[in-house]
Amino acid sequence: MTAMPTPLERVRAAVRLESSDAAVPVVPQITYANASIVGTPFQEAMHDPVKMAKTLVAGYRMLGYDGIYVGWESSFNLVAEAMGCTLKPGGGGIPTVSGGIVSGPSDLDKVIVADPERSGRLPLHLKALEVVRGEVGRDVPLFRYVPGPLTLASLLRGQGRFLGDLIRSPDLVRELLKLATETSNLFAAAVADRGADVLVIADPMASTSVISPAMFENFALPYIREVISEVRKVGCVPSLHICGRTGPILKKMVEAGPRIVELDYPVDMKAAKEEIGKSVCIEGNIDPVSTLLHGRPEDVEAEAEKCISMAGRDGGFILSSGCEVPLDTPAENIIAMVSASRRGRQSP
Ligand SMILES: [Zn+2]
Repeated sequence: MTAMPTPLERVRAAVRLESSDAAVPVVPQITYANASIVGTPFQEAMHDPVKMAKTLVAGYRMLGYDGIYVGWESSFNLVAEAMGCTLKPGGGGIPTVSGGIVSGPSDLDKVIVADPERSGRLPLHLKALEVVRGEVGRDVPLFRYVPGPLTLASLLRGQGRFLGDLIRSPDLVRELLKLATETSNLFAAAVADRGADVLVIADPMASTSVISPAMFENFALPYIREVISEVRKVGCVPSLHICGRTGPILKKMVEAGPRIVELDYPVDMKAAKEEIGKSVCIEGNIDPVSTLLHGRPEDVEAEAEKCISMAGRDGGFILSSGCEVPLDTPAENIIAMVSASRRGRQSP
């Protein structure tokens, strides 16, 4: 009898694009949504790395998926705070950046290149990674979001103004992107040092739901590529997460050098598999709000099966949510996703 593969082996095989008759790996992008499932107040874990880590591990053990996204609030908000921005509570108490700190080129010196060991709450997140690793050992892959430079730069400036800058002030944009890339690289090295396996560059502003493919090529791609090469240098698997619609830029996303491309729910998985599935592992893409938050377990199972049949039949696929799992998502829906993956064989 052969031993069951460990979660790390399952994910590793998918990243290497190996096909087998094993079950499809499943890694929902669930961080703070574990708060309501496990019963930890969101705010408490935000300021307490041990509580954060224990909540993530308790969710993992209760729901039985194949990897842990170690984090809490969005990485770009967390890192923007460490670079000098302030946060305010948004929907559900989840913090958002209260506004940009760069009103013009003369304000660039207000931006701090964050030191992951000291700035803001970054040290808390490094500690949480250490605690999770200590709890689950080496057999469970740890995923860690790192902010995409374009999104981080937009928060430093203020997102409305930044979108106008892409047309009117490209020089200021590039200055901000340099600071953002430098900080993302430092954070990537620090989380690699604390035992993360997969570093996920999360860049929602780079989506073609927000900017044009030409802007992606000019202002997002070169900087994402820099962070990905840092991730490779520090020995981790790079994953690229861009929310919303990304169909027109799939090939460009692969050119940036990730080994996993995370696709959100609007992306056609069948077309994506045909276009990029031979060169990169695809992860996704159950609708996080309509299906995971508001749907019933049978809706989740049906959508998971559809994802597997479109993209998971010959390996190189990780079943996941299209984006971050929302707060108050019912545990039964994550369990339904996991059981669909266990039934979903990779062989046709
Ligand atoms: Zn997303």
